[in-house]
Amino acid sequence: MKTIIEPFKIKSVEPIKFTTPEEREEVLRRGFYNLFLVPAEDVLIDLLTDSGTAAMSAAQWAGIMQGDESYAGARSFYRFEKKVKELTGFTNVIPTHQGRAAEKILFSLVAGKGKFIPNNSHFDTTRANVEFAGGEAVDLPTAEGQDPEAIADFKGNMDTLALEAFIRKTGRENIPLCMITITNNSGGGQPVSMENIRETHRICRKYGIPLFLDACRFAENAYFIKKRETGYADKPVKEIVQEMFSYADGATMSAKKDAIVNMGGFLGLNDESLAARARNLLIVTEGFPTYGGLAGRDLEAIAQGLDEVLDEHYLQYRIRSVEYLGERLVKAGVPILLPPGGHAIYLNARKFLPQIPPEQFPGQSLVVELYRRGGIRSVEIGSVMFGRMTAAGTFVPARMELVRLAIPRRVYTQSHIDYVIEVVVECFERRGDFPGYRIIEEPPMLRHFTAKFAPIR
Ligand SMILES: *Cc1c(COP(=O)(O)O)cnc(C)c1O
Repeated sequence: MKTIIEPFKIKSVEPIKFTTPEEREEVLRRGFYNLFLVPAEDVLIDLLTDSGTAAMSAAQWAGIMQGDESYAGARSFYRFEKKVKELTGFTNVIPTHQGRAAEKILFSLVAGKGKFIPNNSHFDTTRANVEFAGGEAVDLPTAEGQDPEAIADFKGNMDTLALEAFIRKTGRENIPLCMITITNNSGGGQPVSMENIRETHRICRKYGIPLFLDACRFAENAYFIKKRETGYADKPVKEIVQEMFSYADGATMSAKKDAIVNMGGFLGLNDESLAARARNLLIVTEGFPTYGGLAGRDLEAIAQGLDEVLDEHYLQYRIRSVEYLGERLVKAGVPILLPPGGHAIYLNARKFLPQIPPEQFPGQSLVVELYRRGGIRSVEIGSVMFGRMTAAGTFVPARMELVRLAIPRRVYTQSHIDYVIEVVVECFERRGDFPGYRIIEEPPMLRHFTAKFAPIR
């Protein structure tokens, strides 16, 4: 088998800035050891997120020039709507400025007090929108999905036995809809099988509960199904996508992921009366239903991106480049969450830095060292993000201490990834020297974005 290469050539480039160790030390100090507070310009390889960080294609940029900016009924809207309908089959397609705007509208309408929304794993904005509306977000991942070292094909699956038990206990009238997140972002970018989507659909149908997909990475999920699930090897990814959506009554989507654009999203729905109410809310907060918070040019770029993301050479390269990073790290003995997901590698910081206790934030320590040694920006997903203090002042750590290396779409080449591997391996060899951190200032909510840290010497 030959090397799987980037299925594109580069037409336009953006320089990245090299810094000296002294400069990086100063950047860290000025940013209080929080990489969210570091200017992107001072980052060499930015793996903070795969959301909205993709490189658009020449055809997408051409679409930007062709965008129809008419207030109502823009040609670009109809192109976007046609593409989304072709893939999803939903009768109503409502554009929003990003995924969370679709979530906000949907859950404002259905998730009031006393309502429960089950999901394989809620993404943080999804959970926040359910809770903000007064409802309760319930995660039902499988047991293997929660084991960072279990190797399995579909660790993103919903625990369907738990789902049915939950519906019986809670009462179908208290569950306005059920969701499946593909791929399961909070669970490590792990895919969900078609069988699991079908079974979830069957259970939902039995109890009369609509099923929605949180469809941000639908194409990556479909590609995993093609590669791993019996019966799909010879099916075009597009048909797999259409089958996945055929089991759903609606979807929320962040176009910043698998539509390969920098901003955008949509809400898809089959329920006409819910769609009418959603459009009324859209007009208040986002805009008229044929643009919904986006410019016509954005809708063009999304329509084009939804085509490009289904190119199987693209998907092969995408999934393989993440797997390659994971494989090389495993070979060097670096502990990661297994198997590699679709959009990111998660370093297991608890194993990487066992000498740093969770209350001294091993993930944060590793994030700082990756920048210090290589100018790489990553993100802590551990006790900085999810740890908390009880009223009595005891520290409750996160379930896992992870550092996510998210791979932007079509942005970095294999040599960039090789460099990342070298830096991670160097950190692994020097791991005994890394300090823990303490928080010197933090906001009351979502502290990881703005907290200030100091090393514990
Ligand atoms: C990114 C993401 C969202 C939210 O989308 P935004 O465009 O960032 O608002 C929702 N769900 C999942 C699974 C995501 O990855």
